[in-house]
Amino acid sequence: MDKVMAVNAGSSSLKFKLYEMPEEKVLCSGNAERIGHEDAIFGIKWADQSEKKVLPILDHAAAVQLVVDALIEKKIIKSMDEIVAVGHRIVQGGKYFSHSELFNKDTEDKIESLIPLAPLHNKAHLVGFRAFKKILPNVTSVAVFDTAFHQSMEPQDYVFPIPYEYTEKYDCRRYGAHGTSHQYLSQEALKYLKDVKHPRIISCHIGSGASITAIKDGKCVATSMGLTPLGGIMMGTRTGDLDPSVMNYLCACTGKSVEEMYQIFNKKSGFLGVSEVSNDSRDVLAAVEAGDPKAILANKLFIRRIADFIGQYYVRLGGVDLIIFSAGIGENSYEIRESICREIAPALGLEIDYELNKGKRGVEVVLSKPESKVKVVVIPTDEEVMIARDTYSFYKK
Ligand code: AMP
Repeated sequence: MDKVMAVNAGSSSLKFKLYEMPEEKVLCSGNAERIGHEDAIFGIKWADQSEKKVLPILDHAAAVQLVVDALIEKKIIKSMDEIVAVGHRIVQGGKYFSHSELFNKDTEDKIESLIPLAPLHNKAHLVGFRAFKKILPNVTSVAVFDTAFHQSMEPQDYVFPIPYEYTEKYDCRRYGAHGTSHQYLSQEALKYLKDVKHPRIISCHIGSGASITAIKDGKCVATSMGLTPLGGIMMGTRTGDLDPSVMNYLCACTGKSVEEMYQIFNKKSGFLGVSEVSNDSRDVLAAVEAGDPKAILANKLFIRRIADFIGQYYVRLGGVDLIIFSAGIGENSYEIRESICREIAPALGLEIDYELNKGKRGVEVVLSKPESKVKVVVIPTDEEVMIARDTYSFYKK
């Protein structure tokens, strides 16, 4: 029986999920956190059991060894030979990758060359890949890129209006992110669009990172994130799109450096920055309930930014057949879903069953009424299963 591991390596973490393929049955999932520390954490869930322990995990290779030892010890697999392939999530594939790719020297070199575009992520992904390679040298390894789905955009959708020399010389352009999620969602959504010849979908992946993508005939035509995941709609701690002169003006006002301000735009803005309460939408909504004016403003700003992008993509697609809500907020926060729908309903002719929406968390549900001009659905996203599917298809080739 073929087992495929989906891996998401961060700078100090390593998330994993083991699938039995092609059934897509999840055998176990887990996470090593605080890698590099004496008091690192290793957690694993399998069958109906789970375990968490604090122990030293000095590097990613040690984390991978812990994973494989746990798989055997907990009898999740009998031998390492059962793992036929490992798929690695890679945040930035630049202009090189429009689909997943087998890990070889060329793939590795290209991912390495893209480190300046995603310094924390790509570096960590390579560390994760090399750690697995050391422990499981003979398995098929596949790179699955967060940017690949967005490579179908036309130049007028991805080129920034800067001197073209910079676009060419430094590959400075829109790449987007969350591509694996948007692709998964658009494929899952097709069951709602059986009678539509050329499906037009707006996919809203709204979690602590958030992005909106316009999809026509299964291909991305536009996406809200930019060169990096800082662009687009407002997020938990990120600004989303800003007038670029905000950077200069605030550096002059505060005396902070460009790098310091960039960190503030990434880590101290968005819900957290405006509400001064939290980056977590649940805390912000609780403060809204309590009448906190800054939380109310942060929430209104979030909803307005999302509604504006949906309007923009409605025009870009020449109409829309289906809108998807997904990720932490999209799947769980029925309050925010309702506010967004109320904002866009008059222009788009939406008829929403707000009673049905209420209380729905983490489940797939059709929110629109049959008479609605546009279908609106909630679909829980699953990036790992996309990684497993792509990885398994390389193994079977
Ligand atoms: P993600 O990055 O996709 O994990 O999403 C994180 C965001 O989802 C946070 O802003 C959370 O407030 C929100 N979220 C997660 N679970 C819930 C829930 N049960 N109810 C409301 N919001 C939630």
